Amino acid sequence: MSLRIDILTLFPEMFTPILGTSIPKRAAEKGLVEYHLTNIRDFATDNHKSVDDKPFGGGPGMVMMCQVVFDAVESVEKLDLRPATRIILSPQGQRFEQKMAEELSRKERLLLIAGHYEGFDERIIEGLRPTELSIGDYVLSGGELAAMVVVDSIVRLLPGALGAADGAADESFSDGLIEYPQYTRPREFGGMAVPDMLLSGNHKNIAEWRHEQREKRTRERRPDLWADYLRRKQEKENR
Ligand code: SAM
Repeated sequence: MSLRIDILTLFPEMFTPILGTSIPKRAAEKGLVEYHLTNIRDFATDNHKSVDDKPFGGGPGMVMMCQVVFDAVESVEKLDLRPATRIILSPQGQRFEQKMAEELSRKERLLLIAGHYEGFDERIIEGLRPTELSIGDYVLSGGELAAMVVVDSIVRLLPGALGAADGAADESFSDGLIEYPQYTRPREFGGMAVPDMLLSGNHKNIAEWRHEQREKRTRERRPDLWADYLRRKQEKENR
């Protein structure tokens, strides 16, 4: 069965070019995933189609109101029997990483809620009990770009989404290491040559070289990942 992804947003049109291009598009065409976009504003009940209001206690900006979000979630969840994993995009959430993308790619249904303005009335979080995900320590204008980042990284992990030739197995973060350096034709460019090893045709040696490169790059560029990698390796050896 395909993964159903519902996205609740005030700007559904932002998603069309991304979900309609490249791997997200091909995955949907292959029947691996379905995207359903819902405009939260459709659930506004007043003449002005309001979705936000001023914060109690004062302060800048506007806050997304409970009623529209609760009604949108209730209505969308009823459209399919599969229970949805609720996700709210928020800079205050848990940091979204590859491990979480892998976990979410195994679900049957995801419901992502993109905020805007100053964010959500806190009772939306209390009431819906979603997983709050942040794509990094910076503030975006809205959750749409963050939702697209999350969706893209999940969809490419669905079995069959990538061609057999470009699987996700060796990619950065797949096992806590970043990827090895890649080269393509020509063999020499501007005085820079492709490492001899990659031209040797010896697949076992190439695999070893690539693994060494992954370790070297991770150690040099991402000491945080390297420390985790060593810890896990040590734990495995102690078992
Ligand atoms: N006032 C909020 C705060 O300081 O935490 C920021 C609100 S931000 C301007 C508006 C919306 O963008 C958020 O509700 C969230 O959906 C989204 N957003 C912004 N930065 C994000 C991030 N780093 N990760 C995920 N979503 C983000």
